[in-house]
Amino acid sequence: MELAIAMDRLLQKGHAVTPQRRLVARALLAAPSPVSAQELAATLGASTGIGQMTVYRTLTLLAEIGVAYQLAAAEPDRHEARYVFCSSDHHHHLICRACHTVVEVASCAMAEVDQDVAQRTGFQGVAHHLDFVGLCPQCAASETREAH
Ligand SMILES: [Zn+2]
Ligand SMILES: [Zn+2]
Ligand SMILES: [Zn+2]
Repeated sequence: MELAIAMDRLLQKGHAVTPQRRLVARALLAAPSPVSAQELAATLGASTGIGQMTVYRTLTLLAEIGVAYQLAAAEPDRHEARYVFCSSDHHHHLICRACHTVVEVASCAMAEVDQDVAQRTGFQGVAHHLDFVGLCPQCAASETREAH
């Protein structure tokens, strides 16, 4: 997702686009790997005057509106939730359980399941949250080397 689209989505969902929110979103977009609020606050640093609490709240908000994704559920052993910036189309995340690299998985066959669940339960607006975990090619290769 481009930054402009992310900011549009803020407005669509009834949230103001503040300079702070824009800076936090841009820093998240630029991050090479998933980051925690603390790490992102350190990156933004003294130059912006944005505190960790603001970063934390902004990340929570961005996750709420689907601009960012919080990896907490996939990483129960971590103290601090980490976030990634999301593309705008429906997707899921594949997380390496060794190095915690995150890859977006675009294919999703759950739409039918959503419908089926809605039909059987009478719920409306049924959606799903789904994370994939596995071992990335690099980690799998190094694990094979260690075993020999
Ligand atoms: Zn995502
Ligand atoms: Zn890995
Ligand atoms: Zn899906």
